[in-house]
Amino acid sequence: MTDPTPAPEESAGHSGVPLVVLEGVNKHFGDLHVLQDINLTVHEGEVLVVIGPSGSGKSTLCRTINRLETYESGRISIGGEDLPEEGKALARLRADVGMVFQSFNLFAHKTILENVTLGPVKVRGVKADQAKKRAMELLERVGVAHQSAKYPAQLSGGQQQRVAIARSLAMEPRVMLFDEPTSALDPEMINEVLDVMVQLAKSGMTMIVVTHEMGFARKAADRVVFMADGAIVESNTPEEFFTNPQSARAKDFLGKIL
Ligand code: ADP
Ligand code: MG
Repeated sequence: MTDPTPAPEESAGHSGVPLVVLEGVNKHFGDLHVLQDINLTVHEGEVLVVIGPSGSGKSTLCRTINRLETYESGRISIGGEDLPEEGKALARLRADVGMVFQSFNLFAHKTILENVTLGPVKVRGVKADQAKKRAMELLERVGVAHQSAKYPAQLSGGQQQRVAIARSLAMEPRVMLFDEPTSALDPEMINEVLDVMVQLAKSGMTMIVVTHEMGFARKAADRVVFMADGAIVESNTPEEFFTNPQSARAKDFLGKIL
């Protein structure tokens, strides 16, 4: 079987305004062309799920959007502003992009509450009592408010990941990136994290979510992007993608995980 020519990346008719825009983005790691001419537009309020085989460049895509990685050509803009390379403007724009990783990355020697208040106070200049009030609301929302005085190690993986989500939200990001947020969790904890993410999606948050959780994709995604070997191969609604994948690569991948 041969792959059909990949369709150009499209917006799938989402009505929001473009928030995250990548145009012709290319990146290499040495000889490896890890991002190949990536064109991607994520609209305000859109939930985009990115799936694809291991090593296809999904994490690199997330890290590049946040400028944790450099790129060689193309453009990335957030809310119409090009992502600067360094300095204060980068810090400000990066604060607009929340990121939740596979590993929870909480500050081990800070309490749960401190984990959530630190960023707003230090980076956003929010007053301590205001940051605390907001943090408790967010911890309530993700179901761990009663653990606020504990340290990360005293919480389960699922609880820690929910705190990590609350911590990102406390920065009032315009878009949230999730890179396989449930893949390090014990199976029984996956749903408690996905439930929080589904609620967040319903609340209108713009989200880019790398995940192989098809239940989440079906429930919450407006669009699924399939990546293989550093390129976007398909972009479609979850229904279309899961029931009618177009490329041999996607069919093969879905055959392995479904
Ligand atoms: P995915 O998240 O889809 O599994 P990644 O973005 O992590 O894929 O990696 C894509 C490819 O880039 C892989 O072949 C990986 O080995 C390679 N890669 C990732 N990070 C680096 C790096 N810092 N240096 C060199 N190669 C890397
Ligand atoms: Mg990855």
